Amino acid sequence: MGTGDPHGQAVAASAKWQSSSASVELPNRRIEEIFACDVFDLRKMRERLPKNTYDDVIRVMENRGKLSSDNAEVIATAMKDWAIERGATHYTHWFQPMTGLTAEKHDSLISPDGQGGVMYRLSGSNLIQGEPDASSFPSGGLRATFEARGYTAWDSTSPAFIVRGKNYATLCIPTAFVSWNGEALDKKTPLLRSIDALDKQATRILKIFGTDEGVKSVGSTLGAEQEYFLIDRNLYFARPDLVSCGRTLFGVIPPKHQQLDDHYFGAIPPRVNAFMAEFEEELFRLGVPVQTRHNEVAPGQYEIAPLFEATNIACDHQAILMDTLKKVAGRFGFVACLHEKPFAGVNGSGKHNNWSISTDTGKNLLDPKGETHTNIQFMTYLCAVIRAVHIHGDLLRATIASASNDHRLGANEAPPAIISIFLGDMLTDLIEQLESGKPQSTIQGGELDLGTFSLPALQRDSGDRNRTSPFAFTGNKFELRAVGSTASVSWPNTVINTIVAESLDEIASSIESKLDSDSSEERRDEVVRAVLSDLIKEHKAIIFNGDNYSDDWQVEAASRGLPNLRSTAEALPALTTEKVESMFAKYKVLSNTELHSRADIFAEKYITEISIEAQQMTVIARTMILPAAMMHQKNMAQTTIATKEAGVDASELKSMLELFSALISEFRTKMDQLEVARVVPESDPVGQCVYCRNEIVPMMEQLRYLGDQLETHIEADLWPMPNYDKLLTLR
Ligand code: ADP
Ligand code: MG
Repeated sequence: MGTGDPHGQAVAASAKWQSSSASVELPNRRIEEIFACDVFDLRKMRERLPKNTYDDVIRVMENRGKLSSDNAEVIATAMKDWAIERGATHYTHWFQPMTGLTAEKHDSLISPDGQGGVMYRLSGSNLIQGEPDASSFPSGGLRATFEARGYTAWDSTSPAFIVRGKNYATLCIPTAFVSWNGEALDKKTPLLRSIDALDKQATRILKIFGTDEGVKSVGSTLGAEQEYFLIDRNLYFARPDLVSCGRTLFGVIPPKHQQLDDHYFGAIPPRVNAFMAEFEEELFRLGVPVQTRHNEVAPGQYEIAPLFEATNIACDHQAILMDTLKKVAGRFGFVACLHEKPFAGVNGSGKHNNWSISTDTGKNLLDPKGETHTNIQFMTYLCAVIRAVHIHGDLLRATIASASNDHRLGANEAPPAIISIFLGDMLTDLIEQLESGKPQSTIQGGELDLGTFSLPALQRDSGDRNRTSPFAFTGNKFELRAVGSTASVSWPNTVINTIVAESLDEIASSIESKLDSDSSEERRDEVVRAVLSDLIKEHKAIIFNGDNYSDDWQVEAASRGLPNLRSTAEALPALTTEKVESMFAKYKVLSNTELHSRADIFAEKYITEISIEAQQMTVIARTMILPAAMMHQKNMAQTTIATKEAGVDASELKSMLELFSALISEFRTKMDQLEVARVVPESDPVGQCVYCRNEIVPMMEQLRYLGDQLETHIEADLWPMPNYDKLLTLR
């Protein structure tokens, strides 16, 4: 093997870790000592800021106003002092470009003082605005390279933080990134705009019900659970496909993988547990609240779930979480693999996007409470989500589309490409009652009697979960389960906020237009019920509580008129339909140009990823698998000759050799075909996506099938890469 014996190295690395960990001191730091110690949250800076400035900051944050330049200067100095006390030497405007996760350019906090020494400095204008030389960030045609100016603008509502590593500590200032003429070049700008749109429309509903007292704003909340694989570093780097594509392009599933479900919620291996503890400690330091850690379904697969927060901050925290995950994994000899489908045949990874609507006073507007049938305000918000997802199911599907997520959606492990809503028994019953009049009752879950006095009676939920649904109501929030594990959550939440804002707007207008001089609560509720009843009639086709994996659902969904966009190539055009263009424009979330630039970037990314995979595949086929196969063939031929020479019947060996030789020849033919087909012809982006989907992807699948056949035949010692068995078993 050209890379030495990576598996042996992996075992050695693990053994080294195990022996050194024996003497490691037990962690005894208390969470409250480290939580958010590297976070500069303006809301908590009363002691560091002059009273006037602090009051102004809070006022500005609550009313989404602008800071005066004098105050910016004061804050910049306080932030700089805070950062250098913690050892920071540099600062960066941290942002989320349209592709990739995060971007940063580091500037020094230190400048010459003019007297032969140095001083620390961060001016108000450096805090508020930056101008990264960002001509190489994708803009989807929004900027040509010669007009490359882009600005970063400080998002004062998201806390600044310090990123540390060996020999460095950098102050990171969350920012939005826009072009010279103000067009959004990042994921944060439209997200913030969508939050504003949701705020405005959701507040109208509160006003209708007279429950807006003391509420300054309404926003969405987000908790995004992240699944990932850990792969031993030594093995990872012996797989060019993992390194360049994040997934294995060849590989046979071992006899025992996830069939026994013994990994799911099983005991966490000690090396992994040590990694998780350090990973979480880093997140706590950065103020990212995480809640649970456990094994996932596939061997080597894990999950981390954060506590939910306001969506803007939760999205920043998600990006920090993904960066931190990769960084800390390396310290334990792992690579954290976030790809949606690193291994064929075992479960892939996703991100569960838990979303709800909440007032700034902490009231969850999607919490049904006990006697739900009396809670007409809850039903109004619920119906807004139903309408939004029914009208924009195709957009939601397109929002989560990527080359890597195509491996999950549609396979029987992740929600299918058909978007529908799971409500569960209680809410479905309620919606049915509401459709035909005034709801009279709420189905209760009751108690679970476990049949022994030693165990407590458990409170049962009024409905079971449905893990097959792409968009499921889970108690007091919706869970979009179809987001890919590599994806940023900013974009899906921008879309959810906007489509729900649009529906709330429609509902509010409809109610307002029907209210008359009778201002009693009874009359109001009657009007609301009538509006919601019509809405349910029109949009209930989106509700589906059955098994989303079944074939019957595909047929039924079609008869309900729900789109089934199986691949990214089919889904992406839904981003730029007229209904989407006008919605984004109406709520000022994305202009037409901004929307189209995004669609182009997504298409380009899809085409590039497929092209890289196809090319990488032919390289592995030609330079790794084929030579190993020929060596194996040579060994077989020599054995056949030797057997014959020894006077023993070699006819069996000869036919095995012939079969194997035919397999090689088939493999080589497919490889050559892919080599030709992988060059994407000139066309528009949509045409190129379709070409990738229809021509390249099937050919890659065929070549993989043959390569995997070869793997099952070739002598194990000759196989040029660590196999699945090794990759999936962490020691
Ligand atoms: P479940 O049992 O449905 O998985 P959990 O309480 O474990 O529910 O939460 C799963 C994820 O949902 C967590 O990341 C959590 O922070 C998030 N979550 C819970 N409530 C909300 C909410 N109101 N808004 C957004 N996310 C939420
Ligand atoms: Mg969940």
